Amino acid sequence: MDNNNSAEKVLGYFKKISSIPRGSGNEGEICEYIENFAKERNLSVYRDEHFNLIIKKPASADCGNDAKPVIIQGHLDMVCEKNADTEFDFKTQPLKLITEGDFIRASGTTLGADNGIALAYAMELMDGNYTHPPLEIVLTADEETGMTGALLLDTSSLSGKRLINIDEETEGNFVVSCAGGVKSLVRLPLIFEETPPELTEVTVSIKGLKGGHSGFAIKKQRANANILMGRVLNHLLGKIDFRLASLNGGLKDNAIPREAVAVLYVSPADFDKLAVLTREIAQIIKHEYEYEDPDISVEAAVSKEEASGKAISNAASSEKNASSNAQTVTAECLGRVISLLTVIPNGVYFYDDETAKSVQTSTNAGVMRTEGGELTIQNAVRSSVLSRKQLLHEKIKNLAKLSGGYENSFSDYPEWERAASSKIRDTFTSVYARMYGKKPEVSGVHAGLECGVFSKKIGSTDMIAFGPDIFGAHTPDEKMSLSSAKRMWEFLLAVLAELANLDT
Ligand SMILES: [Zn+2]
Repeated sequence: MDNNNSAEKVLGYFKKISSIPRGSGNEGEICEYIENFAKERNLSVYRDEHFNLIIKKPASADCGNDAKPVIIQGHLDMVCEKNADTEFDFKTQPLKLITEGDFIRASGTTLGADNGIALAYAMELMDGNYTHPPLEIVLTADEETGMTGALLLDTSSLSGKRLINIDEETEGNFVVSCAGGVKSLVRLPLIFEETPPELTEVTVSIKGLKGGHSGFAIKKQRANANILMGRVLNHLLGKIDFRLASLNGGLKDNAIPREAVAVLYVSPADFDKLAVLTREIAQIIKHEYEYEDPDISVEAAVSKEEASGKAISNAASSEKNASSNAQTVTAECLGRVISLLTVIPNGVYFYDDETAKSVQTSTNAGVMRTEGGELTIQNAVRSSVLSRKQLLHEKIKNLAKLSGGYENSFSDYPEWERAASSKIRDTFTSVYARMYGKKPEVSGVHAGLECGVFSKKIGSTDMIAFGPDIFGAHTPDEKMSLSSAKRMWEFLLAVLAELANLDT
């Protein structure tokens, strides 16, 4: 079949599956649709109760006799995000596709090209006649909320030791490693005491940071609002008498925190000093982040409620009920809080190599809270090298201990370490160079991919991840380049033809 026609078929499948709701946790219908599609073509299908699919297609007639199977892998689910003003029910409605020039997108919602394009490629591999080794097509459920489909899949029926994952979003970039991760929650019990009544509530706010996804943006070396807050408090310590009532910053452990707020109690006599010290540290911080994060602001102001409350209580009575005084942490405890925030690991620890193009090991102190009598800091640790992830995790655990607290960890997921040598990488690189006359990028991704899960489940497997240009995945701005989807389809066919004649 000519490739133009087959690329049109791929796009047709993409449109068809876009009409089937398939948000994470809602994969029943898409799973059944593709299962039937495979059965109608007399392919062997394994489907489990988690809505994972394994579909096998024998080698093409023109395939070399010794060619071993290749696993083709993608995920059935998609992220469901919509614009605030878009009415849309992801459980029942088909996506409304819009083509604009070279791009396809969905009206007001995510497009689900992540990872619908992998499903469309897989369907045309099932339907068409191409040169390929035996294919083991693995389509997983619930990738986007923790890779649970892949984690629960019984892979014992797979015999392939070569795997092509189609969940990368940049044409000409081949992914050869991914991060594993662990979430680490540091918990420091706080000791509170009553605040002297002459102190006034002040709010210190840090704002204006760029933030970003802690996997993809950590290498940009942007500021972390929680860490900056530790810096600000450390600057005040010993220079002014203040009490700490609460600390809050960040929203998610996998997002670099953009804002943090500390509620302090300070004597009105020290307000001017506080203003000067805050300006000093703000200037230092702004200078350090002049390029990476130019809009940082650090401000201290008398809390609004306190200001109005003050006026009222002054008018009512000068006598305050002692038990209504605010609770603030003891000086000793404040010292430990500041020490913890000053030394807690954050940011990039190692790059993949000396070119520093991709991050190997990092951590993000993403969420800071004071609640339930504790200070908690939730960290997202990542590395494509297991021992480095463990070491960084150990540092955080030990730090929690040193500061008088403890640590809980959860959501551990496996890494995919870059292989010293890889035949599939060599094949991808040489086919790409032959087809497009240039060298592809070969890099690691500093986030979890299902390749990490499969590298542990299947054992030593030669793997690579690739895909067409997709922009804005996981947001309503998601769009896919149609010409890129076509090129990467032709490229996949060329690679499979090459692998059909490799006897590894
Ligand atoms: Zn994906």
